[in-house]
Amino acid sequence: LALRLKATAAEVIKKLMVLGVFAAVNDTIDFDTATLVAMEFHAKVEKEVVVTIEEQIIDDSEDKDDNLVPRAPVVVVMGHVDHGKTSLLDAIRHANVTASEAGGITQHIGAYQVRLEDREVTFLDTPGHAAFTTMRARGAQVTDIAILVVAADDGIMPQTIEAIHHAKAANVSIIVAINKMDKPGANPQHVMEQLTEYELVPEEWGGDTPCIPVSAVTKAGIKDLLEMIILTADIKELKANPDRAAKGTVIEARLDKGRGPIATMLVQNGTLRTGDIIVAGTTVGRVRAMTNADGQKIEQAGPSVPVEITGLDDVPTGGDIFNAVSDERLARELVEQRRTEMKEERFNSRTKVTLDNLFDQMKQGDMKELQIIVKADVQGSVEAVRQSLEKLSDEEVRVNVIHGGVGAISESDVMLASASNAIIVGFNVRPDPVAEENAKRDGVDMRLYRIIYDCIGEIESAMKGMLAPKF
Ligand code: GDP
Repeated sequence: LALRLKATAAEVIKKLMVLGVFAAVNDTIDFDTATLVAMEFHAKVEKEVVVTIEEQIIDDSEDKDDNLVPRAPVVVVMGHVDHGKTSLLDAIRHANVTASEAGGITQHIGAYQVRLEDREVTFLDTPGHAAFTTMRARGAQVTDIAILVVAADDGIMPQTIEAIHHAKAANVSIIVAINKMDKPGANPQHVMEQLTEYELVPEEWGGDTPCIPVSAVTKAGIKDLLEMIILTADIKELKANPDRAAKGTVIEARLDKGRGPIATMLVQNGTLRTGDIIVAGTTVGRVRAMTNADGQKIEQAGPSVPVEITGLDDVPTGGDIFNAVSDERLARELVEQRRTEMKEERFNSRTKVTLDNLFDQMKQGDMKELQIIVKADVQGSVEAVRQSLEKLSDEEVRVNVIHGGVGAISESDVMLASASNAIIVGFNVRPDPVAEENAKRDGVDMRLYRIIYDCIGEIESAMKGMLAPKF
C-alpha cells in the first residue's frame, strides 16, 4: 500500500495508528481500512478484483438457499476384515432389487444407489476405508455417513478402532451395524460396552450413536439399518443445487483398451450431462457416454448420483475433484495450471506439519491443533504417551492424539496422518516398508523412540521452537 501511495511504510503505519490499527510492515489490512488510509494521502481508491481461471470457470455463486433441494446421503461401510462388510452391502443391494433387475447388477462401478420406498441412498463400494482416506487426503469430502460393521461374536478389533478414528477425523456420522446376530456366540451388549470406550455411546444408553443389530445372512435388521440411514440423513439436512454446472469427486478410474479412460464419478452438486466439458484433477474432456450403477445408459445425473463416464483425455485419480465447465479453452488452461502446481507441490511437500516446521507454523497462526498418531509395542505405552502428549497443550496449541494403536506403523496410519496433517510417533515399533515409502512421498513426519521421555521432551521443545537441528 505504501508503494502504491508513494509513501514510506512508516508513514502508512502512523496513519493506521491514528485509526486505531496497530499493524506491522508485513500485516494484511482489509479494503476498507486501506481506503481510509489512502484518503488520508488524497489518493483515489478503486477495488481491483483478481479472478483466477479457477474462479472464472468454477462458479459456486448460484448455490443460494432457494436453489437447494434434498439429496441422497452418501454412505461408506467400514469395519474389521471378515466382520461382514461385503455381505452387508450385498444384502442391502439385493433387498432392494426387484426380480427383473436382478440380472443387471453384476457390474461393479465402485458405487451404487439403493431405493428405499421413495428415497435413495448412495453407497460407496470402495475397498475398505483406504480409498475413503485417500480421497480426504486429496481434499474431497465425499462421505456423509459411515456404517461401522462389528461382528457380534467377535467384538471390536484393531481395524474397527482404525475405522472409528478415520470416520471421526473425517467428521462423518457413524451408525454401528452389529452384524452376525444369527450366530450362537452373538453378544451385542458386549459390543456396545466396547464402543463406549471409543466415545461411541449407544442411543439406547442415552448417547448419540445408533446401534442396529443385523444379520447379512438372514437379512434380519437390514430394513432397520436403511431406515436409520434415512433418519440420520434427514437430521443432517443434506442439500444440493441441481440447477448448476456439475461438480463432484472421482471415485475410481481405469484405462479400458477399447473405450479409453473410464471414470466412476460421484456428482455432488449440479447436474452432469452427456456432452459436458469436464475438468477432473489434471485431466480434461467431454462426457461421451454415461452409465449408472445398473449399467443403463443415461443422459444426465443429479446430486449424489454415481456414474461411469468415458471421454476424458487421461485417467484421473480417485479423489480428484471434477467440475463441468463452459469453456473448453479455459478448461485446458486450468489443467495446465494444475499440472504445474502439482509438479511444484511434489517438489516441496512443505505444507505438511513436521516437528521441524511446527514452531514456524504456530507463529504464523496456521496451527491451532497438533495432531499426533501414536503406535507402540504395548497398549500401556500408547495410553501413557497419549496422556503425556495431551498434557502439553497450552493456550496456543492443543495437542490431540487422533489415533493410537499397538503394532508396526502401517500404510493406513500414514494415510490418516497425511489426510489429517498429523505427525506419527512410534515406540519400540518400526514402520512397515510401504508405510515408510508413503511417508517419505507424502512428507509425513514419522519419529521413532525407545523412551517415552525422549518423545515428550522432543515435542515439547518443538512447540517452543527449541528443537535442536538435525545434522
Ligand atoms: P468383510 O471382510 O468385512 O467384507 O466380510 P465378508 O462380507 O466377506 O464376510 C466374512 C465372512 O463372514 C463370510 O464367510 C460371510 O459369509 C460371513 N458373514 C457375513 N455376515 C454374516 C452374518 O450376518 N452371519 C453369519 N453367520 N455370517 C456372516
